[in-house]
Amino acid sequence: MAEIIQINSNTWRVEDGMVRFFILEGTEKSLVIDTGMNTPDALDIAKSVTSKKIELLNTHADRDHISGNAAFDTIYLSPAEAENYKHAGGNECFIPVKEGDTIDLGERPLKIYDIPGHTPGSIAILDINNRVLIAGDSVQDGNIFMFGQFRNISEYIPSMEKLLTFRDKYDEVYPSHGSFPVNPDIIPKLIEGAKEIQSGRAEGKEIDLFGNKVTLYKFEYAGFFGELK
Ligand SMILES: [Zn+2]
Repeated sequence: MAEIIQINSNTWRVEDGMVRFFILEGTEKSLVIDTGMNTPDALDIAKSVTSKKIELLNTHADRDHISGNAAFDTIYLSPAEAENYKHAGGNECFIPVKEGDTIDLGERPLKIYDIPGHTPGSIAILDINNRVLIAGDSVQDGNIFMFGQFRNISEYIPSMEKLLTFRDKYDEVYPSHGSFPVNPDIIPKLIEGAKEIQSGRAEGKEIDLFGNKVTLYKFEYAGFFGELK
């Protein structure tokens, strides 16, 4: 059973134990950011906290972020995520969003940044007035999936470096997994860890993850699941 937790007067997080998603309300409309893994009722959950018109944006299209998508009329997603979305079983039409776009909920502009790496069409959302960055799975203190189809650690590194170029615009990061919230100071550490993995310097151990043999690189601040060495 999903738990709804109010963050501030117009923001909520929904926790189902494995993954979380967000509900943001503006003066004109509300936006659900992702729809979880076991929450096909994500739209109804959102309706229980906001009476505004509700739209959906996906940070990316992995299965644990789209379980409630089918109920929404308006879905924003990066066009670079189309193939991953199909692969994950999603077949809804979506409105493409890309770097530089702004979705305004009414006195609450949200700026979109492309941050490919975890998936090709991963995006980050800057909630400008609240000084919050919502970055999906890419910035978190849990284990970041970087193995298999659609993952690219060489793209992940510059994406994280991009987030640092406007570091003065946000004070907190809202992640989809792990602790909530996380301090943006984790971003340079994630860059360092990813560079160690990329260069072969990082120590990993082989583990079994849902039947896949992968390498877990565990750092003090977070982990990465990578390809088997
Ligand atoms: Zn996820």
